[in-house]
Amino acid sequence: MARVVIVGGGIGGVTTAKALKKTNLDVTLITPTEYVEWSPGHVRSLTVPQETERSLAPSVVQCVQGAKVVQGKAVSVTSDTVMVATSGQSDPVAVPYDLLVIGTGGRYAHPSTSFLKSPEVRRSLTALRRL
Ligand SMILES: Cc1cc2nc3c(=O)[nH]c(=O)nc-3n(C[C@H](O)[C@H](O)[C@H](O)COP(=O)(O)OP(=O)(O)OC[C@H]3O[C@@H](n4cnc5c(N)ncnc54)[C@H](O)[C@@H]3O)c2cc1C
Repeated sequence: MARVVIVGGGIGGVTTAKALKKTNLDVTLITPTEYVEWSPGHVRSLTVPQETERSLAPSVVQCVQGAKVVQGKAVSVTSDTVMVATSGQSDPVAVPYDLLVIGTGGRYAHPSTSFLKSPEVRRSLTALRRL
């Protein structure tokens, strides 16, 4: 069975993992977080801050419906292996693959939910609302 490794547990990585899980492939998702962030929902969070948590799916494991999940950050890639830094191990863990999908997304800071909750952002929004 071909091993597909997907790096990045954002919208792209998670939906790819979920879709490929329905095929005859051995699917592994590498992601640093336990949750999945729905960044388009953050626009709503700006106006309805109490609903910020709705932009997070708390369990990436649940979202990928049976695909394997390696919790950590990919630190290097060779032609057949991804090296992953995990919080439990001092040395990176090797995750071999036959097919690789890189879904590490945009460049904004993750989790952007935390960014939206930060005191600086809250102060700026309050100031904007007063205008
Ligand atoms: C406020 C906001 C509003 C938006 N609104 C819309 C909208 O209305 N419509 C729309 O189509 N798009 C919208 N977007 C854009 C949309 O959110 C992105 O296009 C989409 O999130 C990209 O998905 P992605 O999976 O490619 O990347 P991301 O969602 O950025 O996910 C990348 C993932 O890769 C992980 N990662 C990064 N580096 C590593 C590594 N070394 N090892 C392992 N994992 C790694 C990250 O932790 C993250 O989980 C919006 C974005 C923002 C910020």
